[in-house]
Amino acid sequence: MDPVERVLRESHYDASLVRLLEGRPTVRAIVDAFRESLGVLGALADTVTRGVSGRRVGYIVNMILNYSNVCIVRCSFCAFHVPPGHPRAYTLDPKTAAAKVAEHYEAYGIRQVLVQGGVNPSLGLDYYKSLFREIKRVTRGRVAIHGLSPVEIEWVARKEGMRVREVLEELREAGLDSIPGGGAEILSERTRRLLSPAKGGPEAWIRVMDEAMRLGIPISATMMYGHIERLEERAEHLIRILELQRRRGRIMAFIAWRYQPAAKLAEKMPEKATGLEHLRVVAVSRLVFRHEIPWIQAGWLTAGFDVARLALHYGANDWGGTLYEEKVLPAAGVPLPRLVREKVERLIRSAGREPFERDNFYRPVAGATG
Ligand code: SF4
Repeated sequence: MDPVERVLRESHYDASLVRLLEGRPTVRAIVDAFRESLGVLGALADTVTRGVSGRRVGYIVNMILNYSNVCIVRCSFCAFHVPPGHPRAYTLDPKTAAAKVAEHYEAYGIRQVLVQGGVNPSLGLDYYKSLFREIKRVTRGRVAIHGLSPVEIEWVARKEGMRVREVLEELREAGLDSIPGGGAEILSERTRRLLSPAKGGPEAWIRVMDEAMRLGIPISATMMYGHIERLEERAEHLIRILELQRRRGRIMAFIAWRYQPAAKLAEKMPEKATGLEHLRVVAVSRLVFRHEIPWIQAGWLTAGFDVARLALHYGANDWGGTLYEEKVLPAAGVPLPRLVREKVERLIRSAGREPFERDNFYRPVAGATG
């Protein structure tokens, strides 16, 4: 018998948890789940996760390419961006940027580059196409491009007077493999209005991702929590992501990021989210997404190694990446530890799980350890 079915038959869980386990989440049921005991959430989430991937935990050797720090969107939580003309503003030309990727490919055998920047008004479609083509050229097509966010893609479409669909097609033709979920924050009207009014409501993010998946481009979905959002809004966010997955089916993974207070937003926050809260978020996400979004990342980048290891028992089954070159958190004053393959595998094993190296599409890499 399916382990979740057994849990449902043999136990007397709260009706809200049963709704989640049966794939019928509502805002109310998710809010109730957030208030459940962490022990119950962890046990259930772990049962569901083992049904999805057993004891195996994936990871990827990758880097982040922050091609520019110029952005005109001005999200209140962002310590990374600067406005155009700022003394710290930089934009890498495609050749220089691709050379960095080639360096990491040669040195570490990275399999993915996460291309992230902001809405830089001086960059148009040609820039991104040259960047992607150059990355593919210098790595002989061996490094996958997981790049841009809906707000950057929408900006390019507006600047070029094109449809989002056309921009996506051209980017894919130039080498874009998949889109990370950045910029979703919390998909609710109120939080987006307060955090990043220039990004538009939740539909702005959903529209671009929906179009991408309609074209067959896979994506990942994220949630940045632990700031001004209410539990109902977290629940709304999770339901919107689940609906999108049920409509298009190309969401490979979900990642919950704990907000790192650094900017002025920190003053408005009731309290900083804790490690326990991270475990709760991961567990509830697993109960909402079940097997439908197969991979949930542990979120080490913002939660830290210790909490991330625990998260592998609370619904997470992917470690994420080594993330060489990440600049967003250092900009917020958060020092980053150095990660390499061996260390990631040690961390996963020390949590009692079996590591496997994967590619951009969550497929095990043939011949890799683990
Ligand atoms: S989070 Fe992204 S869109 Fe918002 S200000 Fe920072 S770089 Fe710009």
